[in-house]
Amino acid sequence: METPLFARVLRRFNVAASEPGYAVVDPATGAQIASVPNTARAAVVRSAISAANTAKCASPKERAAMLAKWNSVLLQNLDDLAAIATLESGKPLREAKGEVAYAASYILYASHQALTTTGATIPSAHPKNKTRLWTVKSPVGVCGLITPWNFPLAMATRKIGPALAAGNACILKPAPETPLSALALRLLASDAGIPENLFQVLTADRENAKHVVGKELMLDPTVRKVSFTGSSPAGIALMEQASGTMKRVSMELGGNAPFIVFDDADIVRAVDGCFAAKFRNAGQTCISVNRVFVHEKVHDEFVAKLTEKVKGLKVGNGFDASVTVGPLINPAAVAKVNHLVQSSLDKGASLLYKADLTQAVAESGGYFYVPTILGNVTDSMPVFETEVFGPVVSISKFSAEDEVIQRANDTPFGLAGYFYSKDVSRVHRVSEALKVGMVGVNESAISTELAPFGGVKLSGVGREGSAQGIEEYLDTKGTTQDQD
Ligand code: ADP
Repeated sequence: METPLFARVLRRFNVAASEPGYAVVDPATGAQIASVPNTARAAVVRSAISAANTAKCASPKERAAMLAKWNSVLLQNLDDLAAIATLESGKPLREAKGEVAYAASYILYASHQALTTTGATIPSAHPKNKTRLWTVKSPVGVCGLITPWNFPLAMATRKIGPALAAGNACILKPAPETPLSALALRLLASDAGIPENLFQVLTADRENAKHVVGKELMLDPTVRKVSFTGSSPAGIALMEQASGTMKRVSMELGGNAPFIVFDDADIVRAVDGCFAAKFRNAGQTCISVNRVFVHEKVHDEFVAKLTEKVKGLKVGNGFDASVTVGPLINPAAVAKVNHLVQSSLDKGASLLYKADLTQAVAESGGYFYVPTILGNVTDSMPVFETEVFGPVVSISKFSAEDEVIQRANDTPFGLAGYFYSKDVSRVHRVSEALKVGMVGVNESAISTELAPFGGVKLSGVGREGSAQGIEEYLDTKGTTQDQD
C-alpha cells in the first residue's frame, strides 16, 4: 500500500530500528507496517503539555477558518486516509472511506460551532432590577484526548474538532494499534495551517500509553479536560486518576446494545438494521448490536431472513473490494470472541450459522473470526452479558413488551438501544423506557455529528457531537454586576 500520504507519514514519523519505536501491525496479515515513536519518558509528555499551554489561542473567526480548511484537506485526501485506516485497523476500504467523511463532518461542524456558540443574558434577580447577569464561555484549558482503534480517524476528530473550536489546545494519544491515522491527521492539520502546539499527537505502545502518556495527562494539573473513548474499566481507571486535579471528564465507554424486534415490526427493515449495526467494522463498534430480542411470533421469519443475508458476507483483507468483514484488531480479540461463543454454546446456546474461512484467508496470518449466529441465548450467557466486539449475532425470544424492556435494561451498560415497531404509542413508550443514551427506532444508523453521542450508567458521562459536544470543552462563567 503506497499512497503519497502514507509515504509522507513514514518519512516524517517512521522510526529507525536503532531508535525507541514500536511496531504497527496489519491485522489482515500479522505483518509489520511501520515503526512509530514510543513515548517512554514523562518529560516528553510534560513538555508537550507546556507547549499546549502556551499555544496562541486564535480568534473564533480564525478557528472557524482553520477548521473549515482542515475539513477540505481531509476530504481531498479521503482515499489516502482511508487506505491508512484500512491498513492498520483492518476495516474494509469502503467502510474506511465512509469513516473519513464521517471524521471530516465533525471538523466542519466544529468550524460552525466556533462562530455560533454563545453565552446568555439572564433576567435580573434583584427586586428593583438593579443587577445585570450574564454568562461568558471560555476555553477550559489544555485537553488530553485518548482514543480507541475501531474508528482511528473519527474518534479523534470528534474530540479535536470541538476542543479547537472552543479555543483550547489539545494532545491526542491514539490507540497503540492505530497511530498512523492520527499521525496522518496531524500532517494534514499542518497542511491546513493548524499550528503544531495547538494539536499534538503522542504515540506509545500499550505499556507507555498507560504508564507514561496516559498517566501524565491524567495527573498534570495543567491539563484541565480529559476526553476518553474506550473500555469501561479503562475509563474508570482514568477518571480516578483525573479526579486528583478535578479535571472535566467525558467518557464514552462500552455498551451492550439491545436490538428488539416487536411482532408489529417491518421484518425486512429490522433484518437490514440488525445486519448493518452488527457487521459494521466486523462488530467492533461500541454501538454494535449485542443482544437481539425477537418476538416469538416473528422469530423464525427474522432468523431465516437474517441468516440468508449473513451468508452473503465475505471475510478477508479489507483492501479486497468484495470483502465485507475484515479481521479483528489483534489475536487477543479473536481469542475473546471465541471464548464468549464457546462458553455460551457450552451453556446451551444453539449454533444457527457459522461461516467458513477460505483457505487463502485462513493462511493469511490475519486475525479473522467468521460471521456466526447463535440462537436460544439466555440472559446469563457470556455473549449476552459481555460486549462481544465481533461478528456474532446472539438471538433470544420474548413474548411481552414489559418483559423485554426489563431484560434490555438488565445490564450495567447503557449506550445504544434499538427497536423495530410500527405502533406509535409503543415507539414513545419503549424509547423512553430504555435506559440508554441513544435509541434507534426503525433505524440502526444513529451516529452523526448532528446528534448527541454518549451513554448512561457504565457507558459513560458527557456527550459528543451536536450542540452539546462543544460545551464539554468550555467553562461557563456567570457574572453579576450592580447597576448603581
Ligand atoms: P482495548 O482493550 O480495546 O485496547 P482500551 O479501553 O483498553 O480498549 O483502550 C482504548 C484506549 O485507551 C487506547 O488508546 C489505550 O491505549 C488507552 N488506555 C487504556 N487504558 C489506559 C490507561 N490506564 N491510561 C491511559 N490510556 C489508557
